[in-house]
Parts: sequence; C-alpha cells; structure tokens
Amino acid sequence: MTCSLCDLAGAGETVFTNEFASVLIHPDWAVPGHAMVVASRHVENASDLTTAEWLGFAETARKAERVLLDETRADRAILLKLGIQTPHLHLHIYPVSASLDRAAVMAVIEARASVARDASLVEHVRARMNA
Ligand SMILES: [Zn+2]
Repeated sequence: MTCSLCDLAGAGETVFTNEFASVLIHPDWAVPGHAMVVASRHVENASDLTTAEWLGFAETARKAERVLLDETRADRAILLKLGIQTPHLHLHIYPVSASLDRAAVMAVIEARASVARDASLVEHVRARMNA
C-alpha cells in the first residue's frame, strides 16, 4: 500500500511536524495559505486516534489556523475533512475573506480558483509554526 500522506514527499511543502501531526502548504494554492494538517499515524477518521493523538493533532490544527489567518490577513478559516482521494486523516484549512459567499467558498474547495505560490508566505508560516 502506498499512501501519499504516510510518505509526505510530494504532498505539499511541509512547514511543521511533530509526533502527532504535520502541516503542509497545499500545492494547489486555491487560496493563499491553503494548508493541510496531517495525522502522523495512518488512520481514516479522527475517532481512530487515541485521545492523546487527537489532542496533539487538534493542538497543531488550532495553532496552524491562527498562524495562517494572521499571515494571510484572512478573517475566516474554512475547515474540511474528506479523505476521498487519500484516506489518511487530514484536515484542510482554507483562510478566506469573510466576504466570500457559499458559492465562492465552494469554488475554492473545488480548486476552481488559484493564486501564484508565495514563497515568502511559506517561510513566514514555517517560522511561526516552529517558533
Ligand atoms: Zn497514510
């Protein structure tokens, strides 16, 4: 079995990792700061984690959300867990403006929108996640 989120190479730009979770900047750049929080252990659902693993994952997700909102100056974090393509627990974080309506948010989620990669944003997020 190969899983792109067990072997993070190629799944995005890893900006943080600890024993419970990693944070990757998603390669689609659907919005600035589209990121994924990836569980360190290959499980499909959050309830497959131990309580300690879940708390570690959630702490990382919470910190990543704050950093991504600050660094993109976005108002709102859209959070999404699907697992259709890759059934390894991961949470997408999309920092967006609060002015986006549901249709605009769905366009982002479906990657019908994209922006240019911002290397400086990646480095700022990496620095703050590891501070
Ligand atoms: Zn996996």
